[in-house]
Amino acid sequence: MTAPRQLAEPSDPLQGFGIDHLPYGIFADSGPGSADGADVPRVGVRYGDRVLDTPAALPRWRELLLQPTLNALLAAGPDTWAAVRADVTEVLASTARTEPAGAQPDSPLLLPLSQVTLRMPFEVADYVDFYASEHHATNLGRLFRPDSAPLLPNWKHLPIGYHGRAGTVVPSGTPIRRPRGQSKAPDADAPSFGPSRRLDIEAEIGFVVGVGSEQGTSVPATDLAEHVFGVCLVNDWSARDLQPWEQPPLGPFLAKSFATSISAWITPLAALAAARVPAPARTVPVLEYLADGGDWGLDIAIEVDLNGTVVSRPPFAGMYWTAAQMMAHLTINGASLRTGDLFASGTVSGPTPDTVGSFIELSQGGRHPITLADGATRTFLQDGDTVTLTATAPSTGGGTLRLGEVTGTVLPSASR
Ligand code: CA
Repeated sequence: MTAPRQLAEPSDPLQGFGIDHLPYGIFADSGPGSADGADVPRVGVRYGDRVLDTPAALPRWRELLLQPTLNALLAAGPDTWAAVRADVTEVLASTARTEPAGAQPDSPLLLPLSQVTLRMPFEVADYVDFYASEHHATNLGRLFRPDSAPLLPNWKHLPIGYHGRAGTVVPSGTPIRRPRGQSKAPDADAPSFGPSRRLDIEAEIGFVVGVGSEQGTSVPATDLAEHVFGVCLVNDWSARDLQPWEQPPLGPFLAKSFATSISAWITPLAALAAARVPAPARTVPVLEYLADGGDWGLDIAIEVDLNGTVVSRPPFAGMYWTAAQMMAHLTINGASLRTGDLFASGTVSGPTPDTVGSFIELSQGGRHPITLADGATRTFLQDGDTVTLTATAPSTGGGTLRLGEVTGTVLPSASR
């Protein structure tokens, strides 16, 4: 099950961040030679191991890009997204033309990644988390409800979801404080209180809404690209001992709301055009509003790394519900979309034990520890553990792009 970290395309000098990717983030220049005002947060585009200083490189778009979050760009809509992307592509292509083949272009507009500080990429408006993997829902159903059918009767008729906590979504690299709370073992007489002893992750893909919608109307599933700007990696940290005690009958609450990590880079939907694949065949017909026109599955291959050992490779292509169906369901009652909304897929789990996206699945409910490269074993996370999610997908240029990673290290529980 364990394997060393591998780059998808070792021959790619840009490491999956080439001209056909161009993800957006927010950075401030933190290098020793930084000019006055360089610490002003602004929009950057990642190119190899550099960051394009977009307000400086694209004067035409300066007002939209000299911003502390991506929200202004998100709100601008698909025509502007395409125009800005075309201009970024032109700037980088012309810079690259002056360099030897394969070399990283050298330009004052391209700052070394090591010289910048990455910030939260966008201000999260509302955060919704779905539960779109049939394998994950089946695995958790077996663990949490061993005496009944693993999938509840509604699961194949609608994408199950819940509203999460937008204010505790944090960018990659933010340390995660172990949560505390109530739990109750099945054989205990009463609940007890303390630090979670079953801290877990959930490897997910997040969808970032750019263009909102009017309250009282619904957004068709076929309009995904009119509203969703791009995707990020998401780690939905989860306390598995708090969760079963608090979850019935209204759903996840404090077991999830303490922290959710997202990657610092948002990959535009346009960069994933070559990753679109048909979703798995429906085994139950869905209502008409959930028809997404097909091919809104995404062939994104995730890797889960714990302390330097890859412990799982969840395949997003096998997700039962697509992002287009999630968006349609989210708004079918008239709820509006807002710029900065984040909706996540739910844990990405494949059909085999080495493709599941959480430790509760990897360890089969904590009964079977996994072994890391250094010989250490884990069921759930210990203080000091670092979890890093990475992902690759086919790029429009025929190669492979890499989503920005999402990483976090577990800190001991607070004393109060
Ligand atoms: Ca989740």
